[in-house]
Amino acid sequence: MMSDDCIFCKIVNGQIPCAKLYEDDNVLAFEDIHPIAPTHFLVIPKEHIPTLDDVEEHHTKTLGQMAYVASQIAKQKGVGATGYRQIVNCRESAGQVVFHLHLHVIGGRKMESMG
Ligand code: 5GP
Ligand code: ZN
Repeated sequence: MMSDDCIFCKIVNGQIPCAKLYEDDNVLAFEDIHPIAPTHFLVIPKEHIPTLDDVEEHHTKTLGQMAYVASQIAKQKGVGATGYRQIVNCRESAGQVVFHLHLHVIGGRKMESMG
């Protein structure tokens, strides 16, 4: 189900443009509008799922596709070998601003260990 006031649903249905990297029936990948690293793109489900905690069992194949598409694009962009992050921010404390599930793929610069 599309959400009328959701910016990423509008990107999915073409109301808002994006720099598209990949699209199939279930997922869409596009460049982040405010990149925080030389490589920064997003992979989203076409279905409006607000947060990672709203994922249900029937979504798990789509989540796997998102991770796979992210790694394929990372390889194409040349960060596959050097390394990159796949991050999902879940709700406010994690910094989630857009409440349509999205996987950040960030690379092309050295990042600190999270440990
Ligand atoms: P969050 O903080 O919710 O995990 O990340 C939302 C991301 O979406 C941010 O990195 C932000 O730059 C990106 N973003 C927000 N609006 C747009 C938009 O209209 N187009 C694109 N391409 N990215 C967007
Ligand atoms: Zn949405």
